[in-house]
Amino acid sequence: MHLVRPRDLDGVLDALAAHPGATLLAGGTDLMVEVNLQHRRPETVICLRRVEELRTFEPGFIGAGVTWARLEHGPIPALAELARTVGSPQIRAAGTLGGNLGTASPAGDGLTFLAAVDAHVVLASTTGRRTLPWSAFLVGPKRHARRDDEVILGVEVPDAAAWPQAFAKVGVRQAMVIAIVNCCVVRPADDDVRVAMGAVGPTVLRVPDAEAAVVGDPTPSAERLARFETLVRDGIAPITDHRATEAYRRHAAGVLARRTLERCLPG
Ligand SMILES: Cc1cc2nc3c(=O)[nH]c(=O)nc-3n(C[C@H](O)[C@H](O)[C@H](O)COP(=O)(O)OP(=O)(O)OC[C@H]3O[C@@H](n4cnc5c(N)ncnc54)[C@H](O)[C@@H]3O)c2cc1C
Repeated sequence: MHLVRPRDLDGVLDALAAHPGATLLAGGTDLMVEVNLQHRRPETVICLRRVEELRTFEPGFIGAGVTWARLEHGPIPALAELARTVGSPQIRAAGTLGGNLGTASPAGDGLTFLAAVDAHVVLASTTGRRTLPWSAFLVGPKRHARRDDEVILGVEVPDAAAWPQAFAKVGVRQAMVIAIVNCCVVRPADDDVRVAMGAVGPTVLRVPDAEAAVVGDPTPSAERLARFETLVRDGIAPITDHRATEAYRRHAAGVLARRTLERCLPG
């Protein structure tokens, strides 16, 4: 295995241009599992650890190299809340938001937040930069729209720190677990409610019909909340796998989304 350790972003882009298809290594918490299981055998690995430009964390932009450990102490409540649920302290010290995007698991916890706030993914190569909405970047289970010569620089996000927001997930235990269902709800305004669900479709997804059922109503009635729960259950596309059945996922997703929304309502 050939290891390249650039000191800065230009070095990463040059290395990608020189080694098309090289594998990028951030925290290694997904990649090294794959290597250890012999699911991947990268010939050239470009290590991102020393690249300061990827660690920007400021209002409006989160660098790909920002770790869960930083996010859990950051100013964005739902992102901090979800970061605290990722793996163990060791995983959170190494794992990054960019790695969550690079893996593009339908269950990636960070991806629920990015979908809820309509984040844009910023990519760079020696030929320039481009920006894709999260929904154009995530194209299928563990598939994304990054070209071989590109690095994920980070995500553009709205300044969401003051919005009512919450994250929750269901797993087989409380910690160190891949979500059976996860959910992020944000309320930028009374007439704008966004619900993102993970592990219930080929990618993280939004549920527009359920969103429409509760916009404009900061104090929805029990009937309206029940309708919201039903629309979430019907608006997702879960599968049965070794973690849960489709039926369980639908039920859990509806309940989880309603409870998460309730945490975003006044009072
Ligand atoms: C024990 C354990 C528990 C875990 N728990 C959770 C959990 O609770 N929730 C959760 O969502 N995930 C969890 N994970 C998965 C993993 O920690 C996360 O997906 C993490 O965000 C990956 O980040 P990383 O920096 O380690 O990525 P890496 O492993 O370094 O990379 C992952 C993929 O992204 C690519 N990549 C990384 N950075 C970039 C970049 N800047 N540009 C382009 N491509 C890039 C890599 O090439 C690779 O394909 C867990 C993993 C383990 C081992």
